[in-house]
Amino acid sequence: EQLNAQEAILKGMQDSTEPTIFDKIVSKEIPATVLYEDNLAMAFKDVNPVAKTHFLVIPKIKAGLSQLSKANEDHKMLLGHCMYVAQMVAKQEKLEKGFRVVINDGVDGCQSVYHLHLHVIGGQQLSWPPG
Ligand code: 5GP
Repeated sequence: EQLNAQEAILKGMQDSTEPTIFDKIVSKEIPATVLYEDNLAMAFKDVNPVAKTHFLVIPKIKAGLSQLSKANEDHKMLLGHCMYVAQMVAKQEKLEKGFRVVINDGVDGCQSVYHLHLHVIGGQQLSWPPG
């Protein structure tokens, strides 16, 4: 019930930017291996995994969040929810020994899809730092 109310608020924040490939995954126009879905967020496997386990968590409603740097006060709940979903699906995927959450932002961050997404990477020993 609470999520539905929040979703209604977020719908009012929907921006008019072009639909991305992730909007098509949300609408099931494009198939994806969905690991989790609720009113606000969706987690699915990355089509080009960089580690044994690599999935993405996205807000189902873009809500103006083409990238993290567009966030404002109104996005706090949605951002927190996506972070919560990331660790929940990490548990579901048995990443008991740890994992990494990454958000690429903009050109310097190598962002390629302008629909906010959290990468969750794990299932093996990762190295640090990234380039
Ligand atoms: P970015 O570079 O924007 O941080 O990450 C975009 C991610 O989306 C990449 O890791 C890429 O492999 C993934 N991706 C792009 N297109 C698709 C798709 O059609 N399906 C899925 N499952 N992942 C995709």
